[in-house]
This record gives sequence, structure tokens and C-alpha cells, in this order.
Amino acid sequence: RAIAPATTDSVHAAIAADDIREPIPDHACGLAAYRAAGGYALLEACLAGKKTPEEVIAMLSDAGLRGLGGAGFPAGRKWEFVRAAPAPRMVTVNADEGEPGTFKDRHHLERDPHRMIEGALIAAWAVGAARTVIYLRDEYAGVRALLEREIAFLREAGLDSHAPIDLRRGAGAYICGEESAMLESIEGKRGLPRHRPPYIATKGLFGRPTLNHNVETLFWLRDIIEEGPAWFASQGRRGAKGFRSFSVSGRVRDPGVKQAPAGITVNELIGEYCGGMQPGHALAAWLPGGASGGILPASLADEPLDFGLLDRHGAFVGSHAIVIFSDHDDLRSVALNLMRFFRHESCGQCTPCRAGTQKIVQLLEDGRWEAPLLDDLALVMRDASICGLGQAAANPVTSMLRHFPECAPQSTN
Ligand code: SF4
Repeated sequence: RAIAPATTDSVHAAIAADDIREPIPDHACGLAAYRAAGGYALLEACLAGKKTPEEVIAMLSDAGLRGLGGAGFPAGRKWEFVRAAPAPRMVTVNADEGEPGTFKDRHHLERDPHRMIEGALIAAWAVGAARTVIYLRDEYAGVRALLEREIAFLREAGLDSHAPIDLRRGAGAYICGEESAMLESIEGKRGLPRHRPPYIATKGLFGRPTLNHNVETLFWLRDIIEEGPAWFASQGRRGAKGFRSFSVSGRVRDPGVKQAPAGITVNELIGEYCGGMQPGHALAAWLPGGASGGILPASLADEPLDFGLLDRHGAFVGSHAIVIFSDHDDLRSVALNLMRFFRHESCGQCTPCRAGTQKIVQLLEDGRWEAPLLDDLALVMRDASICGLGQAAANPVTSMLRHFPECAPQSTN
């Protein structure tokens, strides 16, 4: 399948027209069109025993497919863990896309929903799941209408009978994108992250072994199996494997979802996929992974965008939400804005995150960029918070202290 560079014109038009609450009309991505183009033949081949779960899992591992919701865990290994756990098992799809700057899942669900659904049903077959649950961001009302309609068609066609699909609505909480909080929410409880272990591969939804994947991870499944793992793996640059859907926003001429090779650099992404910077703007800083990934300087714009950023620069590529800032932007305000987001979205369950985010916001609002104090707070939050929100919440500040020391004059004394 030819992967054409994607644009998000219609997404931006929809947002501009404030019509995101309107159902999306029937279009070429419905079940009939998808099947006419060969869709669900792979699932039917799997269900008919023409492929084995071991064979499919090996293909995912050879392709180097990783979890694209942010964590980057190798998909094949995840499938092996869940498959080895006692039945009944569950598959959940995390479509609670809430990371600031991320809109790739919505892009895929609006344009090609059955590609993700087929991936989820193949995953359910491979791990022997009894049920498939899609947890959708509440703000995506148009996508919900689309999925409700398409899942009904799918059921009529008998395509999900091995692991019937439930579509569940989120309720607008960022923390419910964290996998264990999402499971709590699906179970009808308040979305509080769970302590781990046990991991959800052994004790997940309703206490059952659960395979959880982000929309985009499942979106690539059919291509990997049909085109072959070598095809997918060869798409990356600089040793990275596969395609990634980058959500690019900010000071570029042509923002949107860009299907680009893993391992591409920010300079390449801006130049090759976004038409360059906006006129009169020079790249000053960028977010590699939405609010959680940190703030990086223009001097690192030739770094490969992949999970290795963490080891090299302490930054996360996460869900691949790239936000571009220019010399017109006040980076201290950016950091403060991101910290206010985390303060608001902290579930409040543990003190380091609940109190730490409040304290950092208070310091920044008072103009007190005191590096030793901020670093201490960040360390406690990283080491003692229950979940990734608290562990990563101080990243905007710590990355500013590391890469923009002029923001905290005391730290340079
Ligand atoms: Fe809640 Fe924050 Fe603790 Fe996570 S780290 S459980 S979001 S308080």
C-alpha cells in the first residue's frame, strides 16, 4: 500500500468551523468500501486457520513495531505475555487521545476506522481474547458516531463474533489515557492509576489478562502482515524502524498529521513535510512529545525522533506530538502553561504529583526559576509518583533548566 503524505486540512477546517460535535457523514471509509479494497480478508484468513498466532506475533517483532501511544513497548512481546496468561483474556484499545498537541488517532479513525478495528480483532484472535473494548475520547463525538455506525455494520457481518467489540466513552480526563486508569474507568470506577505490579498483562480489565494498544499501533498491523515485516522495518531512518504519525503544530507553514519515517529529525520534518517555518519565524524550541516530553532547543533539531531521545537528552518522543516554537515565543510562558496543565490533570491520588505540580506552578507564577529547588521537586516527583503523569510532569521545567539555562540565572552562578 502506498503511504501518501497525509494532511489534516479537514481536521483544521472542522475545528475552525466548530463542528466537532456533528456526526461525520457516511464516506469512502465505511465497511463496504473497506471490504471492497480487500479489508478483513486478513482477519478472515486468521480466523480460518490460514495463519497462526505465533506467525503473526513473529512478524510484529521482526517489523520492530512498538507501542505508539507513548510508551514504545515492543508490541510482539506484549502479545506473547498476554497469550501466555490464563483465559479469559481481554483486548482494549486506547483511543483516549489527550496528550496536548496529539491528534493522529483522530486522523486515522476519521479516515480509515476499519484498518484499526481489523488490527484490534486480529490482536484479539492472536491472544485468544473474549472481548474487545475501545475507549474513546469523549471530545471526539463525530468519531463516536462513525464508530457506532461501523461497529453495527461489522456485527451484522459477523466479523467480531470471536471477540465482540464494546465502544466506551471517556469523560474528558487526561489521566484516563493512562492504561490502568482507563481500565478503572471502563469498569465504571473513578479513573485512578493502579499500582504496578501486577501489570495489566496478567491482571487487567475486570482482573483478566489484558492486551492494551493505542489506535496507531493497531492501525499499522494489516500493512505489516500484508506487506511483510521487512517492508515496514525498512521505512525508518538512522536505524529506527517503520512509519510514525507525527502530529505537527505550531510555527510551521503546513501543520497536520504527517506519516513520516521513524528516526526523521525535526529539521527534516519541518523542511520535507511542513513546507518550512512560517515566514518571519526562526526555530527556537520544540516539544518532541506533547506536554510530557520536555522542551528541546533548536540546536537539537538534527536529532533522530525516536525513543532513544530519552537516553541521549532526557526527552520523550512519546505519542510523537511535535510542537514548534519560534523566536517570537516566550518559552517561560510555554513551560508555565504546560505545568498548569499537569496541575489541573493530576488525579490527586499521590502527594508528589498533586503537591509537586501545584508548587512548581506557584514558583513559576512568582517568577522564581530557582534551579536547585525545582530540580529537587522534579526528583521527588519522578521517583515517588505512582504513574507516568507525575513522573513526567516536571519535564517542561527540568528541560528548560537543562537546555535554556538563561531562564534561571541562579542556576548558572
Ligand atoms: Fe494521580 Fe499524579 Fe499520582 Fe498519577 S502521579 S496517580 S496522576 S497523583
